Amino acid sequence: MAGMAEKGTVKETIQIFARVKPTREETSKVYSVNNDEAAGASVEFVVPKDLGDGYVNNKLENYKFRFRRVFDQTAGQEEIFETIAQPVADRVLAGYNGTIFAYGQTNSGKTFTITGGARSYGDRGIIPRTLSYLYQHIIQDSTMVYTTHISYLEIYNNVCYDLLDRQLEACRLEDLPTVTIMHDSEQNIQLRNLSIQQSANEEEALNLLFLGDTHRMTAETLLNKASTRSHCIFTVYLCGRQPGSATVRRSKLHLVDLAGSERVNKMALGGQLLTEAKYINVSLHYLEQVIISLSESRAHIPYRNSLMTSVLRDSLGGNCMTTMISTISVDKTNLKESMSTCRFAQRVALIKNEAVLNEEEDPVLLIARLKRENQSLRDELAMVTGEPRQEQLTQYEIQKLEVQVKDFLEDPDPEATLALGTDLQKIRRCFTLLKTIVSGLRQQLTIIQEKLGRANGTGNELTPLSAVATAPDFIPLNEAVRGILISEKEETEKTRDQDTTAQLNGPRLSIGKEEAFEIFMRDHEDRLTIEDNKAVLKQRYIEAKGLGVQVNKTRDSINELKKQLEMRRIQRADQDHREEEEQDPVEAIILKQVEAEKKEFKSYIGDLKTLRTEIQHVQLLMERAKVKLQKDFKEWWSEETPGPQDSGAPSRLQTGRPSLNSKPSSPGRPGSGGHSLSYFPAHKQQEPYSHVPSATDLRSFVPKIQTMQTPSEDRPASSHQRGGSVLELTPQLRDLSSIKPADYSIPLTGDSRIDDDILAFVRARQNLLQRRDTPQQ
Ligand code: ADP
Ligand code: MG
Repeated sequence: MAGMAEKGTVKETIQIFARVKPTREETSKVYSVNNDEAAGASVEFVVPKDLGDGYVNNKLENYKFRFRRVFDQTAGQEEIFETIAQPVADRVLAGYNGTIFAYGQTNSGKTFTITGGARSYGDRGIIPRTLSYLYQHIIQDSTMVYTTHISYLEIYNNVCYDLLDRQLEACRLEDLPTVTIMHDSEQNIQLRNLSIQQSANEEEALNLLFLGDTHRMTAETLLNKASTRSHCIFTVYLCGRQPGSATVRRSKLHLVDLAGSERVNKMALGGQLLTEAKYINVSLHYLEQVIISLSESRAHIPYRNSLMTSVLRDSLGGNCMTTMISTISVDKTNLKESMSTCRFAQRVALIKNEAVLNEEEDPVLLIARLKRENQSLRDELAMVTGEPRQEQLTQYEIQKLEVQVKDFLEDPDPEATLALGTDLQKIRRCFTLLKTIVSGLRQQLTIIQEKLGRANGTGNELTPLSAVATAPDFIPLNEAVRGILISEKEETEKTRDQDTTAQLNGPRLSIGKEEAFEIFMRDHEDRLTIEDNKAVLKQRYIEAKGLGVQVNKTRDSINELKKQLEMRRIQRADQDHREEEEQDPVEAIILKQVEAEKKEFKSYIGDLKTLRTEIQHVQLLMERAKVKLQKDFKEWWSEETPGPQDSGAPSRLQTGRPSLNSKPSSPGRPGSGGHSLSYFPAHKQQEPYSHVPSATDLRSFVPKIQTMQTPSEDRPASSHQRGGSVLELTPQLRDLSSIKPADYSIPLTGDSRIDDDILAFVRARQNLLQRRDTPQQ
């Protein structure tokens, strides 16, 4: 299938894979998977014969679809990553464009496969795993200098939104920035208003992913839209070059979570939904059109009919290595849809792409290189022929030198040079500048070490950096790894700080709303997930602490051995050994021990790094769950408690069974409690958790992301210390919630805002209790 036509070009058809979503239904008679065929793999469906007009008889029909490989229900996320995404990532690292897209009906596992599940670290999907993989490679590859950027785009109703746009945070519907497409003279597309953000490491990239996902979730409410009808494109832009070279390789990796592929006629239509269904249909319809045109090698490919096909133009029949994952559900009611997904995939498999190595001479770099060469030739010439200069450096020259030194230090290229010419005064000045910088850094280091010491409790548990640096074969103890050792402590302090800040900054939630939140929380579908993750975090913190202790121990013993080694050498020198040349057996033993300790040290550091990634991921999962909880509560609250303006309108409760987790049936109403319009920043509103840093803190891109609760701390449960005990209902509250509505009265305060909330709470609570008492149909 793949073939190298000419150097730097790979011709290949789009690779198709299928993944079957796990189900509890008995499905052994309905479908089968075969991965052993020589020609590839296949999935086969056995369904009742459809005689047309909806009549079905007892005859069965078989449908078989071929794929490169089919992942059955038990396939794990790691296997999916290794088989599907890793080869694409490798090509992207080599300078080719890559795309992986998931296609299938709503609920068939597209998001689970591309981004991952919200429940646990092990559920993380292709995006986080690919990021990990890419950055690991980037760090290890010393022959290349890489820069990475990220964008995250959502297409909804044929309108593009930039999910990384900070404006989304404080925005109202009408101000939502949209991304527009422009075609340049060479028919390349340009996306205007799409922010492409640099991400220097895995952590920053993950933060961007979570930031975008959180925006997606909140914008969902803002637009009253369903995420199942939007397409999301997460793109990594990689730029690599060899140090000193002007040849750059630029590649792009699109990871695409398409909208649900189900047909319009399957959905309950009406009003807004119809427009969306129409658009989604249009959007996917054009994707299909492009794919059909490509698979039939037609002359005209209608890329420009929709935004999505414009954006993915390269991925479909162009300069890209593309892979499609068909996600299918084998529940009986979904079989028809699953077969149409497979049929679509068969078409896609016919499309030929031609990926070229995206390598080019960067004119800016080239000019810079030529200038450097020119200058150094002039310098050499001056050195041979010129006179040394006598006069002092001017102020301008000094400033210019400062800029030069700064640029030199910031240049990631290890072979960067500081072109100073032959002027000795300039050279001396630069050394002075460098000396100043180094001593400034030393001071900062001392301060950091002191802080670390303090954070660590004893002040000397962590060996100062200088001691590490003098340890044999200096192994850098990554700042970030240190981060884990102290993060727990820091978090405790921060949570406490925020509690106080919240008190200072404004009134908390009124008591009524707060209690309602606690009751709401108790029934929420994510409660168990949050609790599980909390437990996992606690466990991981303990492990990280343990590892930290081990790291320190090993380092101490390396230092101890080193001292012994020195002593030994001094002794031997004193004794003036004749046989100096001979290996000292004692020294050999010590060296061996040092080696062993170093190995152990490295392995602890490796473990710590792995732990760190997991801790950060789980923290982000919790963060997202928290935002979701807030959002769900907000929706539920405004449904249960119509504001003063619309108090006459019947609440949903009176008309039917309420759903804690369902979306509101209407867009956020302006003026109903004032919380429908601006979703960010959450901490500006008196919302549950508002004193805990919200997802907006993700912006800081440093490992400061807070968990809702400091795992090691068991705070006394009280409704006023939610920072530490959101998940626990206090005994008093539990009692409260079992009191019959009639017995329950809260004195009003006279403050109309608080009283409104109290009354609203009483109403909501009564509704809730009534509902609990009536068995659900
Ligand atoms: P889609 O994005 O196609 O609408 P989702 O990825 O959101 O579907 O999946 C729907 C539900 O099924 C989610 O709750 C998800 O966690 C779960 N799910 C999907 N695929 C798997 C899988 N392979 N293993 C476990 N759970 C899955
Ligand atoms: Mg989805």
